Parts: sequence; structure tokens; C-alpha cells
Amino acid sequence: MVSPHTTAPARSAPAVLDEAACGALLEALKADGYTLLGPRRVGQVIDYAPLESFDDLPRGIGSTQEPGSYRLTQHSGPDQHARFAYATPASSFKRHFFVPKLTLLRAKRETAEGGVGFRVLEATQPRPRLALVGARSCDLHAISMQDHILGGASPGNPADADYVARRRGVFVVAVSCAHPASTCFCTSTGTGPRADDYFDISLSELTNDAGVVYIARSGSAEGAALLERLSPPKASADELEQEDRSLERAAASIERQLPLAGLAKVLDENLESPLWDAIADRCLSCTNCTLACPTCFCSSVEDSSSFDGASAERSRRWDSCFTADHSYVHGGSVRAGTRSRYRQWLTHKLGTWREQLGEAASVPRGTDEASGCVGCGRCITWCPAGIDITREAARLSEKTED
Ligand code: SF4
Ligand code: SF4
Repeated sequence: MVSPHTTAPARSAPAVLDEAACGALLEALKADGYTLLGPRRVGQVIDYAPLESFDDLPRGIGSTQEPGSYRLTQHSGPDQHARFAYATPASSFKRHFFVPKLTLLRAKRETAEGGVGFRVLEATQPRPRLALVGARSCDLHAISMQDHILGGASPGNPADADYVARRRGVFVVAVSCAHPASTCFCTSTGTGPRADDYFDISLSELTNDAGVVYIARSGSAEGAALLERLSPPKASADELEQEDRSLERAAASIERQLPLAGLAKVLDENLESPLWDAIADRCLSCTNCTLACPTCFCSSVEDSSSFDGASAERSRRWDSCFTADHSYVHGGSVRAGTRSRYRQWLTHKLGTWREQLGEAASVPRGTDEASGCVGCGRCITWCPAGIDITREAARLSEKTED
């Protein structure tokens, strides 16, 4: 079993870190052997990428996300000092734990006394010990869900050895999200915008005309010990009030909602709705939504060999319910067209997910209406046709009420 906390959560009194102290925090993590991964400007997007220091974090940059659209912007005023004043980065942390392509084994043909055979070679994988910096609450909930699907945290779902090895010992510096995008809807999935779980240290960014400071809290004994090494001052009542106001503003700015109440039943009763045809007219079956989604976990296994037959390889790669081959069974694909592929994605993500994978792998936690969606909005932003999962779920719900 893997968990963001290597020991039981230990919440410390909120402290204040300035930029120099944040820099020292990242240097301490590096000195402890972690490879830092956090938000950086990569071309025309913010994405999670390797960090060398606190200075690599974007400064004063924002993002505008709409259905099928992503643009970087430049903040003025107090947020010009901010390092985290944008919504979800382009991709999630998924690819660092459930890697897009994994070599499972290599084999080499060998001639020896007694005949010709294959020698199986161990497929060695580089697995750096990661510290996630600036992780959003929606993305941390997604990691926790994948821990239950791939990491062996739920007894019903067998553990994937490579996932478990990559997740072990990961340190998490979360950041509460003060600048949600128009595509975000974490308030209806119970996954944000405040970082309230699955971290070793959490940060909330407070900007003013003079600069920026961070309210820091520990979420594990390791996080508490690291904060203690920095000897930060305690947060004042004014700073805590500013933090609350900022996160309340962020939550109030989220307009998109996922109509989860009764949705699984609605989906089950509308498998033949003409709305699936209307979506199929727009959907390109491009797979972007499933690749961008931090909770999608489908894969396929492929064998390949060299032309001369001297070596062979077996690998696992990400797959998607939008490809014809993914539903290929004896004699052909059972989901021949886009209509049935989109329907499969939506009804699984929002309908049958909890039943198949269990309550612990679903959000909002502890409700009967949990699903496999953390409300990050990536499938909306990165869909070239601008198809919106919240809109399609609402249309199906409205149709039933009619
Ligand atoms: S379905 Fe869309 S909004 Fe939900 S977790 Fe996946 S990418 Fe994010
Ligand atoms: S990203 Fe959009 S167009 Fe592409 S498969 Fe998903 S819903 Fe269809």
C-alpha cells in the first residue's frame, strides 16, 4: 500500500514562509535526495516538470482555460509576484507514476549447446525519489484514487509493482488553488480548491504590493520535521484571514458544476439516448480527454521483435476507450463507433466507476454519489471539439426529467 503520508498525519500550527524560506525548503528536499517536480512554463503552457530551484517556478503568470482553449496570461498588481496564480497545469502527475510506456521484459535469442532459445533480460527502470511541488488538491485526490486502483491500497484491485515502486516515499508540497479556471469544477466533486489532505506540507500563497508569502502547514511527521528545520514564524490572525478570504473567493468563482445527484441512475437509464449520437457528431475519438485525465488508467500490452528475430520486447502503454482496438475481442471491436466509445467513457467515469473500483477510489469521499472525476477540467480544456463533460451530464439529466 502506498500513501502520500509515510507516517500518520501531523498538522502543525500554520507558519509563514517568505520566498527565501521556500527556496530553502526545496534545497533541503534536494539535499535529502529528492528529485523536484513542479509547475514550470513549458512552451505555451504551465506543466509539471523537473525543477532545479524555487526560481524555476513561473512568476506572475496566469492561465485562461475554456472548452478547447488554453492561454497563458500575465498578471499585474499584487499577483505579478505570485508563483502559483494559475489553474491546473496542462498534464497531471499521472505520467510519473503510471508511466505512458513501460518495458515489461526484453528477450534475446541465444544459441547454446542443446539448441536455440531466448534469454529473458531484466527491464531496469529509472525511478527517482520524487518530491511533488505545488500539487493541486484535485491532482492529489486523483493520485489517492490511483493508489486504490493501481497501488494496492484497496484489496480488491491488484497492485501494479512499477506504480508501487514509483509512488513509495514521494514527498508532497501541496498548494491551495486561488485561481481556478473556468473549466474547473472541484467544488462539486469535493476535491478543492483548498489543499486539505494527501500532503506532507501545504502552502497557501498570499500576495500584496510588496511581494509574496506562503502560509505553510504540515500534514505528516516528515513535513513537520522539515518545517521545523526552517524555524518559520507563526502565521498572524490577519494572514490567516487573508488566506480564508482568498480561498473562499476562489471557491465562489467556480461556476461549472457536475450534477452528481442521481447521475449514475440517469446514465444507466439513458444508454440509448439520441444525445449520444449528437455527441458522436462532434467527438473526434482523438483520445485527448482520457490521456489528460488524471484518473483514467487503461493500458494495453504489446509484443514486438527485431527484423532478424534476435530480440523481442514486451511493453505496456497507455490506451484509451476511444480507440477501436481497446474493445477488440475475438472477431472484432465491440465498440465500433464513436457513439459507443464516448458513452463507455462517460458512463464508466461518472456511473459505474464506484461499483467497479470501490468507494475509496471515488470522490466525493463518503457519499453515495461518488464518481471517478476530480473536477480538474482537463478533458474540457484539451478537447479539440470543446466537449464539456459537465454539460453532457446535465443534458442527459435534463432529458430524463423531461
Ligand atoms: S473526467 Fe475530466 S474533469 Fe474529471 S478528472 Fe478526468 S479530466 Fe478531470
Ligand atoms: S478529447 Fe473530445 S474529441 Fe477527443 S475523444 Fe475526448 S471527447 Fe472526443
